[in-house]
Amino acid sequence: MAYQSINPYNGETLKTFDGQTNEQLEISLVTADACFDRWRQMTFAHRAIIVAKAATLMREQSEQFAMLITLEMGKLIAQSRGEVALSADILDYYAQHAEHFLASEHLIPSTGEAIVVSEPLGVLFGVQPWNFPYYQLARFAAPNLMAGNVVMVKHASCVPQCAMAFAQLWLDAGAPIGAYTNLLITHDQVNRVIDDPRIKGVALTGSAEAGKSVAARAGLNLKKSTMELGGSDAFIVLDDADLDKTVEWAVWAKMNNNGQCCVAAKRFIVVDQLADLFLEKFSTALALLKPGDPMDITTTLGPLSTEQALQHLLAQVDRAVANGAVILTGGKRIERQGAFMQPTILTNIKPVNPAYDEEFFGPVALFFRVKDEDEAVILANDSDFGLGGSIFTQDVEWGKFVASRIDTGMVFINHPTWTTPDLPFGGIKNSGYGRELSRLGIQEFVNKKLIRVDAIDASA
Ligand code: NAP
Repeated sequence: MAYQSINPYNGETLKTFDGQTNEQLEISLVTADACFDRWRQMTFAHRAIIVAKAATLMREQSEQFAMLITLEMGKLIAQSRGEVALSADILDYYAQHAEHFLASEHLIPSTGEAIVVSEPLGVLFGVQPWNFPYYQLARFAAPNLMAGNVVMVKHASCVPQCAMAFAQLWLDAGAPIGAYTNLLITHDQVNRVIDDPRIKGVALTGSAEAGKSVAARAGLNLKKSTMELGGSDAFIVLDDADLDKTVEWAVWAKMNNNGQCCVAAKRFIVVDQLADLFLEKFSTALALLKPGDPMDITTTLGPLSTEQALQHLLAQVDRAVANGAVILTGGKRIERQGAFMQPTILTNIKPVNPAYDEEFFGPVALFFRVKDEDEAVILANDSDFGLGGSIFTQDVEWGKFVASRIDTGMVFINHPTWTTPDLPFGGIKNSGYGRELSRLGIQEFVNKKLIRVDAIDASA
């Protein structure tokens, strides 16, 4: 299988890479496995020097890292720079805090001593998506490397240059060969890696379909897995919301990364009282976005990641309309070179419409008008997904109460769902299981081993 780097702004094929053979894959596995024995013996302080060095190098080479993102998947260059900075922050965060997060816990049993220690599991395998080509890798690699595991990664096939740049980063930072391995492999080879006894845990970020396949395979092998999957986040506007500020966030929540975020707002649920005004302001703001070269800092609307992604989204919109949805604005590709889609708002989406349950991964907003808070909550929870969500109200206590009624892994008040190194990230339902980032993320792939000291006297 070929890994292709294609610029979605102009369709130019930048580079093509051959996939790895099974023999090459075996060499990578042997190397990673051997590296684990060495890596796990290193102190936290020693590993932290390497991880922090990787952070420094990312910042020093920010422009090269950022340009690769924009070239391979079309992210606006300012956002690419932001992603590089965020990725470096994640590396630093775990370099600084891992030892504390994994400190041994002394229990207080009725007799003797009991200690829970956190030990690494071994070689971990991550399958990662293209939408945040470094951030996704950083949030998998940093905690796990700091915990003493080593990692192998199969990145999405459309961002091979980012995948390779991130792997090179670790060598440049002084990590031993095998601590971080990039794999250019097929889906069949993904299964082969999961089956391999040297692999001790599996983490996937991607679509629910990929998650089902990879989680099932991990389950067959009785291997621990974490799944960070898609979402259809609700953006709830309550009747006392500050509308101008809320609409500004609505545009960001929908259009950041051109709508290709797992936690992008996908369903805008607005109470009747504000609905018309919200729609007017929201569609006016979307119409101001300016398509163009994502390398140009003045561009505000970039292409989708690939031509296939655009075709998939257009087909979803067509299907939604065929099933009764109404296009309020947009709905078509932009007639120019590149994989550009008009910012789109769909309304009148009934539960029988397939769009009601689908994730729209791009600049397409689904709009719902509701009577009140209760209707908003029922609608927000009527989804197979359970990743994030946001609530806009001037009454923060009310916002917290409504948040307690939402069935997702994350709810933000007066801000779209977003991510920083110190906040846990993850979902429930078809959005997956497990958490990445924060103190929780580093606990997923460690052996919480009990060491017990008790009386030797059997009669005691
Ligand atoms: P995707 O098609 O599921 O791909 C993700 C990764 O899985 C890629 O490396 C892909 O490889 C691989 N893959 C896909 N199907 C596979 C299979 N059957 N067996 C083995 N590997 C497989 O998702 P995507 O289009 O790249 O990313 C978008 C999705 O990711 C959205 O649903 C988004 O919401 C979700 N996402 C979730 C989070 C989160 O934290 N919850 C974060 C970001 C994105 P190939 O590229 O070679 O197909």
